[in-house]
Amino acid sequence: MSIARRRIRSAKAAGSLIETPQDNWLSHFTRYGETMVSKAEPNPSLERVRHTRLADKIADQLRRYIAANEMSVGARLPSERQLADTLGTSRTTISQALRILAIAGLVEVRPGSGTYIRIDPYTLLGVSFDVMFDPDPDSLARLAEFRHWIEDGLFTLANELSFEADNLRNAFDVLARLDISIGEFIEADASFHVAIVAGAQNPYLTSLFEAVHRQILQVTYTGWIESGHSPQWLSGRERHQHIDMHRRIRDAALDGSPQELRGALDDHSASLERHIEITQKELR
Ligand SMILES: [Zn+2]
Repeated sequence: MSIARRRIRSAKAAGSLIETPQDNWLSHFTRYGETMVSKAEPNPSLERVRHTRLADKIADQLRRYIAANEMSVGARLPSERQLADTLGTSRTTISQALRILAIAGLVEVRPGSGTYIRIDPYTLLGVSFDVMFDPDPDSLARLAEFRHWIEDGLFTLANELSFEADNLRNAFDVLARLDISIGEFIEADASFHVAIVAGAQNPYLTSLFEAVHRQILQVTYTGWIESGHSPQWLSGRERHQHIDMHRRIRDAALDGSPQELRGALDDHSASLERHIEITQKELR
C-alpha cells in the first residue's frame, strides 16, 4: 500500500523524468546558461537579486531527479564536477544547490566523499510542505514568530510530554562538538529542535515545525549557502553561549520541567530573532 502510494506520488512529482533510465541521467537535466536567470525572471520591482537564485533552481531540479530515480537513503549523487558539466554551470553554484538540499534535510554533504541521500523524499510531510514557502529576508521575522507559535503547540496540544531521551542527547552531543562542520551543525540543530517538538507525540505538529524551521535556516544561513562560511554566532564566545542555551533546553525536557522548558525555548527564539536581524543587515 505504502509502496504503491509512493510510486504514484513519485511519478506525479517527476513528470516526464519518470521514464529516465538510471544509467542515462545525464541527458535529462535542463542546462542552465548563466544568462538564463535574468531572461526567465525579469525583476521589475528592483529587489535585491539573490546570488543563490540559480542554485535554488538547480536544487529543485535535483529534488525531482532524486524522486524520479527513487534514490534510496545512503545513495550517492553524481559528483559536483559531473553535475556542473551536465548542467552547464559552475561548481560553486552546484555546491550552493547541494547546501540548500542539506539545509532541507534531504542530503548529507560529506566533505571529501560526496553527497548522499539522507531521507526518502516522500516519507516526510515536512519536505513536501516546504515548497509552499519562499520567504524573503523581510518576512523572515514573521516566519520566526510562526515557528515559535508552532513550537509552543508542544505545551498546548499534549496533555503529557514524552521525549526520546537518546535522540535528544545524541543531537545535543553533536551540536555541542566544536570540531564539526557547519553543515553537520545545522543538521544536528534541526534534529535537536525536532526531537523537542516530537515530545508532544503529534507527527503533524512535528512535520509542520520541521518544515518551517528548515525554511528559516535556509535564509539565516544564506551566507553559508553562498560561500560556505560560518556565521558570526557560531564562533568564539557566542558559540559557547549557543551550546549552553541548547543544554538548558535538553535538561529541562529530560528533567520533566515544562515551565523551565518553555522559558528556555523563549530564550532560544529571542536568540533566533537576533540572528535574523544580523542576516537581514548582511543581505541589504
Ligand atoms: Zn537551536
